[in-house]
Amino acid sequence: MAADHMLQFVGRDQAYPDKRAAGDRVADFDEIAARYAIPAAEDQAGRCSQCGVPYCAVHCPLHNHIPDWLRLTAEGRLRDAYELSNATSTMPEICGRICPQDRLCEGNCVIEFSGHGAVTIGSVEKFITDTAWEQGWVEPLVPGRARGQSVGVIGAGPAGLTAAEYLRVNGYDVHVYDRHDRAGGLLTYGIPGFKLEKPVVMRRVDRLAAGGIVFHYGFEVGRNASLDELRQRHDAILIATGVYRARAIDVTGSDADGVVEALDFLTASNRKGFGDDVPAFDDGSLSAEAKHVVVIGGGDTAMDCVRTAVRQGAASVKCLYRRDRANMPGSQREVGHAEEEGVDFVWLSAPTAVTGGDKAAGVQLRRMRLGAPDATGRRAPEHDPGGEAEVPAELVIKALGFDAEDLPTLWEAPELGVTRWGTVLADARTLMTSLDGVFAAGDIVRGASLVVWAIRDGRDVAASMHAWLKARAADERKAA
Ligand code: FAD
Ligand code: SF4
Ligand code: SF4
Repeated sequence: MAADHMLQFVGRDQAYPDKRAAGDRVADFDEIAARYAIPAAEDQAGRCSQCGVPYCAVHCPLHNHIPDWLRLTAEGRLRDAYELSNATSTMPEICGRICPQDRLCEGNCVIEFSGHGAVTIGSVEKFITDTAWEQGWVEPLVPGRARGQSVGVIGAGPAGLTAAEYLRVNGYDVHVYDRHDRAGGLLTYGIPGFKLEKPVVMRRVDRLAAGGIVFHYGFEVGRNASLDELRQRHDAILIATGVYRARAIDVTGSDADGVVEALDFLTASNRKGFGDDVPAFDDGSLSAEAKHVVVIGGGDTAMDCVRTAVRQGAASVKCLYRRDRANMPGSQREVGHAEEEGVDFVWLSAPTAVTGGDKAAGVQLRRMRLGAPDATGRRAPEHDPGGEAEVPAELVIKALGFDAEDLPTLWEAPELGVTRWGTVLADARTLMTSLDGVFAAGDIVRGASLVVWAIRDGRDVAASMHAWLKARAADERKAA
């Protein structure tokens, strides 16, 4: 190891790539962070102390070889760094952009604990693979020797796409079915461009299609085919459909015009970014322009909604959350970005009614306070007597999280085992469901989670499906 390149964390300060000024970034949907220049990335990678037991990698769901690719970057061997980073992840540049690093790799970096500020792992990871794309180092997907077996993947989000890639590399015919008209799942239609620009996702999808993965768009299982019909077409099936049943809010007036679901709002905005016709945006129903906007919820979806509303030219944007800042589920980094961009957080507040009759005009809210910890150890919010207020709102966005849809009913598959939350039951080791040859991965198994976990599941399930399909082919050969 070229030790002089590394261990520079005492003399060299932590430096993230520059962020654009808040005033500039709210004028468009481009990503807010600039990229490192080459010397800056090399310098930042050189802050790593090359731990014998790298806690950063232990806490990365993909167990990426972080110290090794940091060292290669510090040594200027960017292509080697890319190849190593690519060995454990199908989308390193996407994780580098949108993983909550403060809770995963960077939050567990020993340099952080020693008070010097974590190595900026995510930004270096993004830099390495963005450079690889620019330099033409990202190789086409080369399918393995054809095995004569086919796999149907339901859902083109990160879990489905990851599994599809590894299975294609292993020589399977892979068909991906998605109800949308583009692949990517929430990478494409949920997460806004200011966190993840869409060409970054689309170049990944294009590479998979060029490698022979067949995409069937506008194909909804449950409408265009039952699960059983798909099982007849393929040797194995992967369910990677994510979770899409929005949690409801039970207050007077919540069915008024102007009260909308977070994902409808975000999808419309992302579609406009692609240049699509979106009538419900163009007629104003899903647009925040010139409106007072209230977003209800404190998770990452709520953060994406408030920041989207600001960019659409809202007159004001408020976020209501029933706990305080320290107890919110969303990333603190994203709250900071939202505050810089002019969002007003009304902590410890819960809506009691949408006012205005048929058309939303305001939200009545009640002050909350934090009571004793509940069974999970979090302090439960409770009503603070006497604290009532009303805020103006022509657009009220409900961002309270998502549960699984009722797949056994929708897919005419009562024998598909699910948990009491509706997520699909999958064997912890094989990720096979209660149906032979039907596997499941991603949010539909975990409940709403993270992109990096969906990629991890996609990698694991592909290995398990490969083993199962090989065994099945061997049995068939023996029987023949
Ligand atoms: P999805 O990405 O949900 O993909 C599932 C796909 O299945 C979709 O394309 C859907 O159209 C398709 N599908 C569903 N049902 C059917 C059917 N019946 N027939 C055919 N196709 C079907 N995670 C992070 O790590 N960082 C973030 O910053 C972040 N921000 C987020 C912001 C928002 C607004 C949301 C909602 C989530 C965010 N997440 C984030 C979470 C992350 O996006 C998910 O955990 C991840 O996308 C799950 O991947 P998946 O492949 O399991 O499912
Ligand atoms: Fe960190 Fe996510 Fe990259 Fe893992 S995948 S190293 S957690 S940014
Ligand atoms: Fe380097 Fe931090 Fe990981 Fe240690 S924990 S190997 S210092 S990035």
